[in-house]
Parts: sequence; C-alpha cells; structure tokens
Amino acid sequence: MSFLRRLFGGGQRDNDGAIHLYVRCGRCGAMVHVRVDPRNDLLPEYGDSDDLSGYRLVKEIMDSRCFRLMRAEIAYDARRRELSRMLEGGAFITRDEYEKGREAQRERP
Ligand SMILES: [Zn+2]
Repeated sequence: MSFLRRLFGGGQRDNDGAIHLYVRCGRCGAMVHVRVDPRNDLLPEYGDSDDLSGYRLVKEIMDSRCFRLMRAEIAYDARRRELSRMLEGGAFITRDEYEKGREAQRERP
C-alpha cells in the first residue's frame, strides 16, 4: 500500500492501509476522527470507454456533540492519488489540530 504512504507524506503512524479523516463540525466545533477502509469505501468510477477513471469516497460523519451529519466527498485518480476533497457541514483539519484540540478538551473539567 505504498500509494497511501505517498498520499499522506509518511506522516501517518498507522500502517493499516486505512484512510484517516479529521474534521470539525461547522455548527458546534466538535472534532471527529474517522477511519475509512479503502477496500470497502472507495467506489470505482468508469469513464466513457468503460475504463477505470478513478475512485470516489463518500462518507457521512456525525459528531458526538450536536449530532449533525456531515458529508465528506473525496475524489481519487485511477492510481488512488487524491485529486480533491470537500466536506458539507464542516471543515477538514489536520491530525495535529485534532490531537491538540483533544488535549485542550481534556484540560477542561
Ligand atoms: Zn456538531
């Protein structure tokens, strides 16, 4: 799964081939980490000539504070390199922001 290591620049500690998404809810600010298994969640897409043109990942994510549903959509090319990503109802954050935010939450009683 070397393409995933390239995709995430080797910064990912997990070596399970999974895609990790970190998002922040646009309404309440809660942060959510989702683990996606590309073998199950990446949908192949085909072009006009029935050739594989790429993959699409659609994931619905719910935070545990206001329970609003967010919808992530990420496009990959045929070699599973990420082309674009969007998130309805929230924003993507980095793993760093997620970890720091969690620490800050723990410090509050
Ligand atoms: Zn929320």
